[in-house]
Amino acid sequence: MPTIQTILMQLAAATLPALRNLLVLAVVFTALSTLAAACNKAPPWWRKPDLSTDLCWAIVPQLLYRFAHTAMLVLGIAAFYGITDPSGLDCFFTEGIGPLARLGFWPQVALYLLGNDLVMYTTHRLFHSARLWRFHAVHHSSEHLEWVSASRFHPVDQILHGILADIVMLLLGIPPEVLVWLMPFNVGTSALVHANLDWDFGVFRYVLVSPVYHRWHHTGAERGGSSKFAGTFPLFDLLFGTFYLPTDQRPDRYGVDDPHFPKSFIGQVRHPFAPAHGAGTAGAGRAEGMLGTVQQLGE
Ligand SMILES: [Zn+2]
Ligand SMILES: [Zn+2]
Repeated sequence: MPTIQTILMQLAAATLPALRNLLVLAVVFTALSTLAAACNKAPPWWRKPDLSTDLCWAIVPQLLYRFAHTAMLVLGIAAFYGITDPSGLDCFFTEGIGPLARLGFWPQVALYLLGNDLVMYTTHRLFHSARLWRFHAVHHSSEHLEWVSASRFHPVDQILHGILADIVMLLLGIPPEVLVWLMPFNVGTSALVHANLDWDFGVFRYVLVSPVYHRWHHTGAERGGSSKFAGTFPLFDLLFGTFYLPTDQRPDRYGVDDPHFPKSFIGQVRHPFAPAHGAGTAGAGRAEGMLGTVQQLGE
């Protein structure tokens, strides 16, 4: 039986890397906010009004997420392949099992980036549907969008949206070491696309998601929000008709169309389970409304 001390040590071990990553990102984006042009006129990130909520989302879920993530991957994949012995599990984590396991490291990196983005594109669109919007609304709740807002994901959203993609790629044979190697890239790009930077990547705007590109996703229905579901490659938005990137204007007015949406971390964790949600129509109205707007814009 683990003692309280053991549990506390495990929690500390899980929290420290999150704090270290947060510190590195804070230094980088403080420098960028000083040196580079902003997309929107706003206070610097360290003076944004809801910073404490962002910081809670950036730190607290790490305690649960890291354990849940690891446990789900180990149990799910061991059950799928019928692996029960520790050496078999160890072999799986270092070499991978599946059709892509025989490829070299770099092809596996490229396939992971594309495959992971495709799965996440799909789940992201699902989270904009009536049934799931209530959870994803937390991610869209920041009215002062900054890099530090990137971690706002309700645990339900985080598990289904984030972990499902990893499970699919692992089952296809991408070894976990590729996922671990790409983790800093994924954390860094996620922070970057939420940063208040006037970067649209010029001619590469069709290749990589930029801060301006993703900020459009966080706008309201009247501004074309709820399009651009891709996390890294606009290719999937181009393929599935959700690409939207005006070049003559900049995104603005972020957040959800709900004046009563909680501002606090605890309030946002509890919000999707509030009785008022019923079948989730409150979020569905906004999400479907925005999708309709995108279709009109694409016409
Ligand atoms: Zn979204
Ligand atoms: Zn976002």
